[in-house]
Amino acid sequence: MLAQVMPGERIVDDNALSDAEALLVEIAIVADPSPERVARFPHLKWIHSVWAGVERLVPLAAARQLPLVRLVDPTLAQTMAEAVLAWTLYIHRDMPAYAAQQRERIWRPHTYVAAGEITVGILGLGELGRAAAARLVDAGYRVTGWSHSAKAINGVETFTGVAGLHMVLARANIVVVLLPLTSDTHHLLNVERIAAMREGASVINFARGGVVDTDALLHALDDEKVSHAVLDVFDEEPLPTNSVLWNHQKVTVLPHISAPTNRDSAAKIVASNVARFRASGELPTLVGFERGY
Ligand code: NAP
Repeated sequence: MLAQVMPGERIVDDNALSDAEALLVEIAIVADPSPERVARFPHLKWIHSVWAGVERLVPLAAARQLPLVRLVDPTLAQTMAEAVLAWTLYIHRDMPAYAAQQRERIWRPHTYVAAGEITVGILGLGELGRAAAARLVDAGYRVTGWSHSAKAINGVETFTGVAGLHMVLARANIVVVLLPLTSDTHHLLNVERIAAMREGASVINFARGGVVDTDALLHALDDEKVSHAVLDVFDEEPLPTNSVLWNHQKVTVLPHISAPTNRDSAAKIVASNVARFRASGELPTLVGFERGY
């Protein structure tokens, strides 16, 4: 796909390169490579990730001061927005409960609550969080959001800072995590933050496993503080077969599928970034090594 959209470039699979050829490589187009794989290319000018989350690449790019570009793709944002809407509806319309009832042949309607009565709090209002917020507003939910810098988004009440985080957590029926994993966001949803959540709220983590303290979440699920968790990302992936999450009645496990990179749109974005670099030396907005995203 990359070769098709960049006919003027020589696109090579790194496995097929000799050590001598590796010295010629200028741009690494990567997903989630091991540091050793990137270390093979001493003359790299920059790295383009075809993933939006680059926490594994940040330390190695920072160590070599190599400009790091992550995928910013409206198609990816729409895919994530669709997933956030789908799993918000899943929780809001009691699908885990009805699926469990069907297994037990139980006919028991639950009280219907309108979307306008449900507050969804989105942690992270970046490319994906903003697209998800717009889709939820459109579906009639009350939407709040939290980010590092202040944001103005139509129909969304936005917050910053620790006090703002607690406001979002205290109000939300459903907390959606769309933060990058950094030293600041590691275990952001810990015992204290989960305690600040509304009784019986649910959590959707579509960002990275490390943003949520899994032990704290499990305690909160067992104490009925948290009603349900939809988890697409985990500390270790694939989720080990002996993880208690697999069989937990209040956990929905997904295999990191909420927003897969679209090869077609991502290849075109990479091609246009490479073409601009060749023409003018300019690169798109870079990942900040200090902030980690
Ligand atoms: P992004 O555009 O960089 O947005 C990140 C958002 O998080 C921004 O709003 C940022 O605030 C906020 N943020 C970061 N650190 C913060 C902190 N310490 N306190 C408060 N807010 C903070 O990233 P994105 O493209 O939306 O992607 C988000 C994450 O989704 C990725 O990092 C990746 O891990 C994950 N992801 C998952 C999948 C999947 O399939 N499960 C697919 C793609 C991506 P500012 O706006 O103020 O900077």
